[in-house]
Amino acid sequence: MKETKSEHKAHSLKIRYPRRLIQLSVLSILIWIPLVTMNPHDWSPSRIVLGHLPPPTVREISGDTWSFTFYGFRLTHPVAFFEEVLAAKVVYIPFAVSVIIPLMVTLLLGRVFCSWLCPVGFLLELNQKLNATLKKFGLHYELKLKDFRYIILTLSLLFSLLFAVPIISAFDPPHVFGRELIYIFTHKAISLSGVGLLAAIFLFESLSTSRAWCNYFCPSGGALSLLGAKRAWRIRMEKDRCIYCEKCDRACPYYLEPMRLATGGDFNWTKCDNCGLCRDACPTGAITFRFGRRL
Ligand code: SF4
Ligand code: SF4
Repeated sequence: MKETKSEHKAHSLKIRYPRRLIQLSVLSILIWIPLVTMNPHDWSPSRIVLGHLPPPTVREISGDTWSFTFYGFRLTHPVAFFEEVLAAKVVYIPFAVSVIIPLMVTLLLGRVFCSWLCPVGFLLELNQKLNATLKKFGLHYELKLKDFRYIILTLSLLFSLLFAVPIISAFDPPHVFGRELIYIFTHKAISLSGVGLLAAIFLFESLSTSRAWCNYFCPSGGALSLLGAKRAWRIRMEKDRCIYCEKCDRACPYYLEPMRLATGGDFNWTKCDNCGLCRDACPTGAITFRFGRRL
């Protein structure tokens, strides 16, 4: 199919550029917050481990991707909200208000938190290059894994309900990452559990299956997958443009094989995080992003 000049131009604008800009901005803000605005005396490691961030009155800008405050305006990760409510068995109205925007964004755009905001997802994406290099030197052992995200999510939420402890916040990698930055800049320390967890994920993904955490283990990503399953913003395949080159399949970090949208196979919409890598890889512009559920 002949492509008009404006269509070609629009397609040549890679979605990874704005995505990288946003990922880098989030990472910079996470570093900037403890570096510039934190007073070590406001923090105690035990409070941070449980995900309790200083109240807005302590600092105008504080928090991380789990819970973020900007001059009294608070945003809370939906999973942080659900597990806190299950643990406390109380709904604090301002806390409920703080989850509305992240929840609406997920319902409308899908789990874009994972592909556009998460600092660990960003670094793991970059780590795929190391994985590919080590693979060339034979330092690689690919494992076939199953999706444990929903089991881990269910058990963790049950744990919060039964034992009144918000457990996901103790090991959620982006939250652990933000917490470690706070430790480093305010206490000149690292926690062995937090850094150990992050190091284990990066080491595993360097030597074995890349994007394994996001793909198979992350309970937060699992929850966002479920919340965003019926999203309005999604990829769309223009079948008559597809030349079946499989470049989109090779670009997808979750092995979702988006070419199935052209060949008529099943596609796992729940897991797709709207990263746009398949769209950027497609040489003919067959994959676009659209609002609406029509394919
Ligand atoms: S199908 Fe495309 S947009 Fe969805 S996760 Fe895979 S590469 Fe990203
Ligand atoms: S990259 Fe584009 S042309 Fe190639 S298989 Fe995927 S959708 Fe079809």
